[in-house]
Amino acid sequence: MEIALFFGGALISWIITHAYYRRSSKIAPDWALPLIAKLPDTPPTKERLLELVQEYLGKGEVKVNDPTGHIACPECANSAEHFEQKVFGDERHTVVVTSCPACGWSQTDEV
Ligand SMILES: [Zn+2]
Repeated sequence: MEIALFFGGALISWIITHAYYRRSSKIAPDWALPLIAKLPDTPPTKERLLELVQEYLGKGEVKVNDPTGHIACPECANSAEHFEQKVFGDERHTVVVTSCPACGWSQTDEV
């Protein structure tokens, strides 16, 4: 029963959002119409969203930080380009400490 209510609620909120989107797109300026035309009529599936993310990453416009795997700070969303890294280790172990200079978040990875 709860699951039916959950999906019913999700459907209702999607319908309301869709109706507002349709209404607002009628008063959009001309330059925005090609962008709005690209928007899908139905919500994309999880698989399609993952495909879009993979496509975007494949273009090389987004750099994934190595070794954390982040594209931005998980605390303050600062770009991973600004991360600071320190490498420690000996001949058997190497540890990379990645930190965000904006908020102090840090992660330690053994590589
Ligand atoms: Zn941060």
